[in-house]
Amino acid sequence: MTAFSPGRCRINTAGPCPHSWPALVCPVCGPLHDPVAESNALQPGRTVAQADAVAVLRAIRTALAAGHRQLDLVGGELLLRPEALDLLRQARLEGAQGLAVWTSGTLLARPEAAARIRQAGATHVVVGLFGDSAAGHDYVAGTEGHFQRVLAGLRAARAAKLGVWVVAPLLRPTFRGLPGLVQKTLPAGVAGMYLWAPPGPDRLEQPLLAPLAMMAPGLQAALKILATAQRPWRIDGMPACLQGEWARQQPAWPQFCAAPPSDAAVQNSEFAATCSGCTWREGCQGVDDQRARSHGWLGLQPRTDAPTAAQQDLP
Ligand code: SF4
Repeated sequence: MTAFSPGRCRINTAGPCPHSWPALVCPVCGPLHDPVAESNALQPGRTVAQADAVAVLRAIRTALAAGHRQLDLVGGELLLRPEALDLLRQARLEGAQGLAVWTSGTLLARPEAAARIRQAGATHVVVGLFGDSAAGHDYVAGTEGHFQRVLAGLRAARAAKLGVWVVAPLLRPTFRGLPGLVQKTLPAGVAGMYLWAPPGPDRLEQPLLAPLAMMAPGLQAALKILATAQRPWRIDGMPACLQGEWARQQPAWPQFCAAPPSDAAVQNSEFAATCSGCTWREGCQGVDDQRARSHGWLGLQPRTDAPTAAQQDLP
């Protein structure tokens, strides 16, 4: 098992984005979005999808020169870039040992797509799923039949011997199905899950978001299934007290950055006054400031148990 860093970082490829999903809810680039990179020419999203392959390769070389060998390629759909396979090949030629391509998953279902990605040097795909059923997933995705195409892509990736992680945002329409999502995808060969509560306010401004405390029971049930199956996970956006007995300390944010770390990476987290007496305070992500403004500190309970060590994840 390789830790989710040191040695691992993300590269924002600014790939073309065909999705209409809000940027901070999108599982392809949302979970690793942070304000540090706003000025970066490779920032995710449709507005910079024209960033050229030279810039992506330059970012890959920067990461490799910094000693990172496991690279997450996020930001739009890298696989829609005409030079995607060349970028994968070149990254491996220049020393990358692991390449995880983040994707909505549907592109993997095209004939030979997964096999070609694997041959070019990808080792993993990270596939987004919104929910455990076609009804829930397709509602959020805004496209009928999307759920089945993602599952087909996931199966194609496994058949091509790519490691598969599922990334699932915790959203109001689908969080109750989180345990079912884990149960359905584990038998398909999913190596681990990346779960995250997108930052932001509640439904008045973003109808897809729900209070963290409301989603905590579903999250904990999902984590219990993962723990029983001995599969790794990573969680972002959910404080340790709402993860119950399954909380783990998280690797620090800067480990994901190709650019030098900055204090701005954690500036959006806030803590309640009662957090000062919590034994998890040092290793806790706290609550996104917009959520804290919307919901206050609903459901937070200072902990008294010893923090559990960070989990190893990418195999
Ligand atoms: S009480 Fe505060 S510091 Fe403790 S786990 Fe909850 S949010 Fe984190």
